[in-house]
Formats: sequence, C-alpha cells, structure tokens
Amino acid sequence: MKQYDIVIIGGGPAGLAAAVAAFDAGCQSVLILERDHCLGGILNQCIHNGFGLHTFKEELTGPEYAERFVRQVQERNIEYKLSTMVLDISPDKVVTAVSRNEGLLELQAKAVILAMGCRERSRGALNIPGFRPAGVYSAGTAQRLVNMEGFLPGRRVVILGSGDIGLIMARRMTLEGAKVLAVAELMPYSGGLKRNIVQCLEDFDIPLYLSHTVVDIQGKERVEGVTIAQVDERRRPIPGTEIHYECDTLLLSCGLIPENELSKGIGVDLSPVTNGPVVNEQLETNVPGVFAAGNVLHVHDLVDFVSQEAANAGRAAVAYINGKKVQQNAVPVTFEGGVRYTVPAAIRPEGVEDSVIIRFRVGDVKKNAVVKLLLNGELVLRKKRPVMAPGEMEELKLTRQQLEQYPDLQTIHITVEEA
Ligand SMILES: Cc1cc2nc3c(=O)[nH]c(=O)nc-3n(C[C@H](O)[C@H](O)[C@H](O)COP(=O)(O)OP(=O)(O)OC[C@H]3O[C@@H](n4cnc5c(N)ncnc54)[C@H](O)[C@@H]3O)c2cc1C
Repeated sequence: MKQYDIVIIGGGPAGLAAAVAAFDAGCQSVLILERDHCLGGILNQCIHNGFGLHTFKEELTGPEYAERFVRQVQERNIEYKLSTMVLDISPDKVVTAVSRNEGLLELQAKAVILAMGCRERSRGALNIPGFRPAGVYSAGTAQRLVNMEGFLPGRRVVILGSGDIGLIMARRMTLEGAKVLAVAELMPYSGGLKRNIVQCLEDFDIPLYLSHTVVDIQGKERVEGVTIAQVDERRRPIPGTEIHYECDTLLLSCGLIPENELSKGIGVDLSPVTNGPVVNEQLETNVPGVFAAGNVLHVHDLVDFVSQEAANAGRAAVAYINGKKVQQNAVPVTFEGGVRYTVPAAIRPEGVEDSVIIRFRVGDVKKNAVVKLLLNGELVLRKKRPVMAPGEMEELKLTRQQLEQYPDLQTIHITVEEA
C-alpha cells in the first residue's frame, strides 16, 4: 500500500491551501485527491469577480483565484490525482478511492485533511408541494450549466432563497438574456452578503420578497408557473397573499450542507448546527490526525477565509506527524446572545501558535451590537458591530499572549449584546 504523510481529500481552495502550507512547513509527502477532472473546486464555475480581496488585495474571478493556488501546488510539485473519488477513510487512516485511470486505490496516510466542500440543499429536502416537472434546478447546478457547459436552463425564472449563489445566479441569468421575475426568501432577512443584494438584485431591478416561500409549482412536463406566498412568523403561508408567476424555471438557493459522509465514516463528531466536524484550535477533529477546513467544516462566505483556515490545518497536520503533542485539556468555547456556533468549538491554549481566530455566525440580524470575549469571566476583547447578519461570518482573534494571562483557564465565553 502506498504511504503518504498527509492525504488531502478535495482539491478546492481549502485542499490547495492546506497542501501548499503543509509543504512549506516541511512536509513533502503530500497527496491531493480530487474527484473532478480539474483542481479548483466550486471556484471553477464562479466566473463572477469578487474573490481574493483579502488575500491578494485584488478582485479576481473564481477561476483566477483558484489558478493562483493551483500554480503554487504545481511549482512545488505537490502530487495530486484527478478523477479520483474517495470512498472511505478508516479510523487508522487508510484512504480508499476509485480513480478513472488507476482503478481502486488504497493509501495509508499519517494525517488526513478533510476538504470536501459542501453541497446544495435539494428540492427533496425542502418539501415544496406541486408536480415534479423539468425546470427545477439548484442554483449551483444552473451556474455550472451556464458557466461551464454553455446551456441556459430557462428564460423566465423565479428563485427561491436569497443565499449568495441565488443572488449571483439572478444576475447571471439576467446577463444571459433570461428574465428573473422574483427572488423569494423564507426568512425576514437575506441569507446572502449585502454587496450581492445590491449588485445582483437592486442593480437589475429584481424584486426580493422577504418572508415568502414557494407554495405551488405548476406544469407536468416542464415548469409552467410558480406561486409564492407570504409566511407568518412561524413560517406558515398566509392565505390570500399568493403571487403567481408564469415561468419555465425555478432555481433553489436554500442553503449548503457540508459533504460529511466520509467524516461520519471515520467516526468524526459532527456539529448539529454546522453539520461539519467539531474541531479544536488546530482544526483537528476528535479522531487524532484527522483535520478539517473550508466548507466541509462550516459554510464560509468568503473564499479568502477558506484559504487562511486551510493553511492552518495544513501546518497543524505537519506538527501532528512531527509528533508535536498538546497534553492540555481543551476549554470549550461557550456563547450566548444569538451566536449559533463557533469554530473552533474548544481551545487548548498550548496548541495556539501566535493566535487563534474564532469564527461564528449569528442566527438573526442585529443592529448596533457589541461582541465581547471573556476569559474566566473577564473581558478580553470587545468589538463594535453596527450590523450583524446570519449571511456574514464574524471573527475574533485571540492571541497566545492573551491566553497566557490565564494559566488556570476554565471558560472562554462569547456574547453579543446591544451597544
Ligand atoms: C455560487 C458561489 C458563489 C460564490 N461567490 C463567492 C464570492 O464572490 N467571493 C468569495 O470569496 N467566495 C465565494 N464563494 C465561496 C467559495 O467559492 C467557497 O467558500 C470555496 O470554494 C470553498 O472551498 P472548499 O475547498 O472548502 O470547497 P469546494 O470549492 O467545494 O471544493 C471541494 C472539493 O472537494 C472535492 N470532493 C468532494 N468530495 C470528494 C471525494 N469524496 N473525493 C474526492 N474529492 C472530493 C470536490 O469535487 C471539490 O473540488 C462562492 C461559492 C459559490 C458556491
């Protein structure tokens, strides 16, 4: 069986950044396994700009951003296998994969980095009534059809869900000559970035109906119409508020779910909120030597944070194979005030190199808020946030120096309060 120090599952931005950082930290036995026929992950279909503002201080398209990391991988001669789908990872880190060229592969890894990204919530998971005609697509599938395969999936379009992919596809379909009639969003706020609401809907006069959902899809062979209705605070449709659209396409942009079948198979603990692995400050799961980064861990808003996080996972995996052990118990990160989860979920101060970034999301829109981080009940960080929204990731940076002030650290607590 071929052996590698680090096997990385997924060649998207997370897998690429993890591989480069692991190599630069001194590990040359790194392998990336990617099921698609090219590296780059979901970025290959994101041909709009807006990527890399933090990392490169430039506005790049998705493929341009991916290309910069692919080049770094190639310059270092890091090995990767394309068209290779990982089927299983055993707890002792034997990776089983099937490759178009090499058939069934079994590889022994010392450390594994999970970087499989996420998938879109499907119609089945959404329970939308009506027939099952052609013309109902997830927004990401439509994006791939338009941007990579050269097909326009429809001409008159309604979009359910205002996550970033839905917003971006509203603009994309409009630019390709389709008429986007409306975007309906179940929640009273959008799940997407503010900049995407402005640039993708408002600039093209596409109406956004908050607190609305699809209550019927008409058409037997092909979508012929879609009816949306307003919902009450318990998300039940309000009779009499229906709006009907004659259209041939419904796009669904109703959330992303981390691709965690492999993680479950190894015995990795998953968070019920993110559906991604529960990790410590080194992005290591409960299975020693198995790390996670990128959208498989929690769904990110910006790819720059994916690359940053994955580089940390790459370095941590190298420390692990070099035998660097942290004996300290982890202190769980607790929270209140509408915070839904944190990554990492627990911190061992000794495992923090210079600093640890704690990322989280809130469950509701908050205005004029202040985020506080307390160690053993004492205020250590305070950050004013004029607006916080569920669609945008928040972060706090805690330094090792700050942690060292509390040698008997018992609690790490985050609260969001009104300023
Ligand atoms: C439509 C859309 C628009 C976006 N717009 C922006 C934007 O404007 N700005 C921005 O900064 N970010 C944006 N993002 C976010 C950004 O693209 C993601 O955060 C980033 O791509 C996540 O990287 P990842 O490596 O975790 O996942 P992915 O890019 O999804 O890569 C995961 C890789 O793992 C592979 N894989 C999965 N399972 C297996 C397996 N079993 N075996 C082998 N390989 C496997 C997949 O094929 C894939 O290549 C957007 C995302 C989408 C979907």
